[in-house]
Amino acid sequence: MIPIAKPLLGKEEIDAVTKVLSSGMIAQGPKVEEFELAFSEHTGCEYAAAVNSGTAALHIALLAHNIGKEAEVITSSFSFIATANTILYTGAKPVFADINPDTYNIDPERIQEKITSKTKAIIPVHLYGQSADMKAIMEIAEDHKLVVIEDACQAHGAECHGKKVGSFGTGAFSFYPTKNMTTSEGGIITTDDREIAEKSKMIRAHGSKVRYLHEMLGFNLRMTDIAAAIGLVQLEKLDGFNAARQKNASMLSAGLKGVSGIVLPATKPGSTHVFHQYTIRAKKRDKLADFLKEKGIGTGVHYPIPIHKQPYYIELGYRDSLPISEKAAEEVLSIPVHPAISGDDVQKIINEVKEFYATA
Ligand SMILES: *Cc1c(COP(=O)(O)O)cnc(C)c1O
Repeated sequence: MIPIAKPLLGKEEIDAVTKVLSSGMIAQGPKVEEFELAFSEHTGCEYAAAVNSGTAALHIALLAHNIGKEAEVITSSFSFIATANTILYTGAKPVFADINPDTYNIDPERIQEKITSKTKAIIPVHLYGQSADMKAIMEIAEDHKLVVIEDACQAHGAECHGKKVGSFGTGAFSFYPTKNMTTSEGGIITTDDREIAEKSKMIRAHGSKVRYLHEMLGFNLRMTDIAAAIGLVQLEKLDGFNAARQKNASMLSAGLKGVSGIVLPATKPGSTHVFHQYTIRAKKRDKLADFLKEKGIGTGVHYPIPIHKQPYYIELGYRDSLPISEKAAEEVLSIPVHPAISGDDVQKIINEVKEFYATA
């Protein structure tokens, strides 16, 4: 089976974890601090605060910016549920803007239409590993004095006009095992704002900077040194992992070019796409997925139901019409692109997709 995702963990990660286990300091300690420094440098940011998931990173970033009740936050409905749920956690209201049909990222013009006197923040998602249109989004944010929190959970190392994602606004990354790099579970907040960094570190630890002195309401959302030790090794491998994803993606695109029935992923000028997913639009999508599964190729639908159509959001009263997001949800299919697949695997994927449309 060629899986849709697989973390690449080697002897270096195992040795790093063993060292931490032998040290006796297995909760948040010096490795977390070391990881924060290394990750902020890689992102081109001044500060980083490591936490225990990407969801925690988004949640804390919102709280650190004082987003709460009465606020509206504009984001994409075509994303993983965490993007919008973290807005709900704060008491604020997610407001969905439709996407660009080629990049699947939030459309700046649609953002403009959703701004009201209550709008406090925008959360663009860099979906599948490609940056949203950060130039346009930062301009809108500046004009309307809005906070920008980047959901960079799928885009470690991606750039927009030579600048890394997570360095435009406040960044939120995930290190879940399927992402471009992993710490097992984990996440991080990146920022150039010292106050946001300090507040984030307090919120992750029960609102406390000095032990047993609690200045605000916080949580326990800390990263462990075990996770950070894995992250330090993975971060060194990240650029190589991304290069392998890009190589696989260009082989897939070259091999699948011209196949009728599918639309290949588009990389927009000025973007470096790090291909968290290689996602096509496919006619007879579900039949293609079944066919590939039979041939030993794993696929994924990211995502089959836009957030505004999820049962819980319907219950909350969401009745949006977001036709581009809704159409994408019916047509997209992700096929393996991760660094654990071989050139032969890529060729097999190309052959089987062609075979399906030749006989379909
Ligand atoms: C993975 C992901 C998250 C959540 O990260 P976790 O580490 O799983 O909590 C949020 N947003 C997007 C777009 C993601 O892909």
